[in-house]
Amino acid sequence: MKASIYVVGFGPGGRADMTQQAVTALEQADLVIGYTTYVNLLRKLFPDLTYYAAPMRKEEERCRIAVQKALSGKIVALVSGGDSGIYGMAGILLEIVEETGADLEVIAVPGVTAASAASAVLGAPLMHDFAVISLSDCMTPLDLIFRRVSCAAEGDFVICLYNPRSKSRPHYLAQAAARIGQFRKPETPVGIVKNAGREGETAWITTLEKLPEEPVDMFCIVIVGNSQTYVKNGKMITPRGYCLSGMETQV
Ligand code: SAH
Repeated sequence: MKASIYVVGFGPGGRADMTQQAVTALEQADLVIGYTTYVNLLRKLFPDLTYYAAPMRKEEERCRIAVQKALSGKIVALVSGGDSGIYGMAGILLEIVEETGADLEVIAVPGVTAASAASAVLGAPLMHDFAVISLSDCMTPLDLIFRRVSCAAEGDFVICLYNPRSKSRPHYLAQAAARIGQFRKPETPVGIVKNAGREGETAWITTLEKLPEEPVDMFCIVIVGNSQTYVKNGKMITPRGYCLSGMETQV
């Protein structure tokens, strides 16, 4: 039988936000491989599993070890936070399996991505078309990132910014906000969620104009509303377009 390897998105971090499929894949694995921070998180929830942790930027190494172990007969779960197919490990794993010609079936287990987790905390900001953009230029040229930001802003997409600000790139968020501001009002609502769905969750709503001053870091996701997004009773809402009649219902 062909050996298989699981690439598992375990959601934002809390046990309650993991899919049953992710829990099953983790519990049956002989070896769980992931980025150190994620492995530490999972260790608390599943202390009896066997882990291999590798630091950031060692994605290729993590994948190659995972492939080797899977070929040697181990059941391997390669993990990503959120969804493994969204800025996660699914892509590089498939590339390496293809490049090495390894006779492995890759089984992807989807997870709740940061945008979904944050949207639920903020209200309903993603009720209309949205774009997901990472501000990390580790592997994507900065001018391409900003072009996408401008195009999404011009297209009136709600914009979810992943990897919004790190110590090595403190100014990209302000630069992205300025580009969005060419197409959107300064008072456009912006939702920020830090550590969505896990310990230390905090969320607040600000405006596009104030976004550059906000204490945003790599544990945050930023959701910029479209031209219709508004805030009511502390909730950020992007209308889907229903014509509400205001009628009273009798049950
Ligand atoms: N695969 C992940 C994304 C990895 S990129 C997913 O699907 O969610 C890493 C970025 O995702 C972080 O810098 C942050 O912007 C965002 N992120 C991931 N988990 C988050 C969480 N729990 N709360 C807020 N943002 C999160």
